[in-house]
Amino acid sequence: MSKKSSNESRTPTARRPLFKVRHSPIHGDGVFALRRIRKGTRLVEYLGERISHNKADTRYEGKDARDNHTFLFTVDARTVIDAGVGGNAARFINHGCDPNCESTTENRRVFIDAIRTIQPGEELCYDYSIQRDDDDAPDVDEVFACRCGAANCRGSMLEPKPEPKPRRARKTKRAARR
Ligand SMILES: [Zn+2]
Repeated sequence: MSKKSSNESRTPTARRPLFKVRHSPIHGDGVFALRRIRKGTRLVEYLGERISHNKADTRYEGKDARDNHTFLFTVDARTVIDAGVGGNAARFINHGCDPNCESTTENRRVFIDAIRTIQPGEELCYDYSIQRDDDDAPDVDEVFACRCGAANCRGSMLEPKPEPKPRRARKTKRAARR
């Protein structure tokens, strides 16, 4: 007399991966949808070693200032996730100025969610909104130049000037070498 479980309506395709990492025309490697992804889908957690800001500074203080690859994600004032250590595919998701995903922080964990329907083959991206610092070099927007090709591309992976977005978790520009 029991009703059918809703699980039985699932198709095998539901277990196929949603995305894969491959070379991107935007920047290095990127992450591309393999299937249609519905708006609101939680795609992946941004994983890596959780370290202090001080430790992140020390770890990458010798980094070339021209290196704009960033595998660090600021969680809060205490914690940075270094996806250069134990990171997953999330670290290859590129910045975009008209993104189809966004980063959200829940209980000090960072997730990447789809904010619109994404078609197979589309590259996943979210707005890095990299934090501006007082001691940034004058050419910091050139080092972190964006070439996403969106009509509203602001030309930089850094947060828009002059107002920061304090609500959203942001990547930092200290970075790991590939
Ligand atoms: Zn752009």
